[in-house]
Amino acid sequence: SPTPQTASRPTTLAVANQKGGVAKTTSVASLGAALAELGHSVLLVDLDPQACLTFSLGIDPEDIEISIHHVLTKGTHASEVIIETDDGVDLLPATIELARAEADLLTRTGREHVLKAALADLAEQVEYDWVLLDCPPSLGVLTVAALTAADGVLIPLQCETLSHRGVGQLLDTVHDVRRFTNRDLEVWGVLPTLYDGRTNHARTVLETISDTYELDVIEPPIPKTIKFAEAPAAGRSILATSRTSKGARAYREAAANLVERSRRASGKRR
Ligand code: ADP
Ligand code: MG
Repeated sequence: SPTPQTASRPTTLAVANQKGGVAKTTSVASLGAALAELGHSVLLVDLDPQACLTFSLGIDPEDIEISIHHVLTKGTHASEVIIETDDGVDLLPATIELARAEADLLTRTGREHVLKAALADLAEQVEYDWVLLDCPPSLGVLTVAALTAADGVLIPLQCETLSHRGVGQLLDTVHDVRRFTNRDLEVWGVLPTLYDGRTNHARTVLETISDTYELDVIEPPIPKTIKFAEAPAAGRSILATSRTSKGARAYREAAANLVERSRRASGKRR
């Protein structure tokens, strides 16, 4: 596929928030599909033992023999595990086996770097423009490995039920990662999700959080819409199941903004 970016290596983003249900997985699937529509080559990595991303892309984790778990703990080359999906993106799938990875990696030297190393090995064979990492709802080894492998982090936030403490903890982890394992990690910003624009409350919460933590906001907010409930069961993202819905359009626009940002970032790197 075409490589419209000028960067010689992929832009790798960790989509992280230790809170569950804030649309991490939905955002990874939807932004991935939107980037693919723009002609970019995309790899999505499922780092959650619940394997919701894998399932939502039409793959039954129970049908898979090897998964990201083997890449992280057994040295299997990622290219042996990657699956092409109907959404036009490649997937490094997860299964429930990944639940053991945390324990398996705990005694391993360099565990924070296993994903980074696996993606570097992969890059020698396959060139992606984007690698999006779907983090589990915790700040454990897998999330730290994702932040270590990433150029940037996106923080999906549900503006209604937002807990400041959670964001602070995540940013503390980012700070530690910068200090110990990945100096160049940048926070790209918060992605407002499940956004109900009819309430002033949502906008106020969003402004408060971006001011308090000096975080950029990735525009536009992703509206809350029932359409998202239908997509995972169809094995496709909302961009395919509900092409012209508000939600699909918002993710397309957000993806275009990420492309802009990545062009600026790769300009700086050079
Ligand atoms: P996480 O990965 O952070 O746990 P998910 O992406 O799995 O979150 O989303 C949690 C739930 O919210 C899912 O049922 C998903 O379909 C739903 N959802 C995600 N985004 C939206 C949205 N914009 N509007 C309505 N429902 C959404
Ligand atoms: Mg998830």
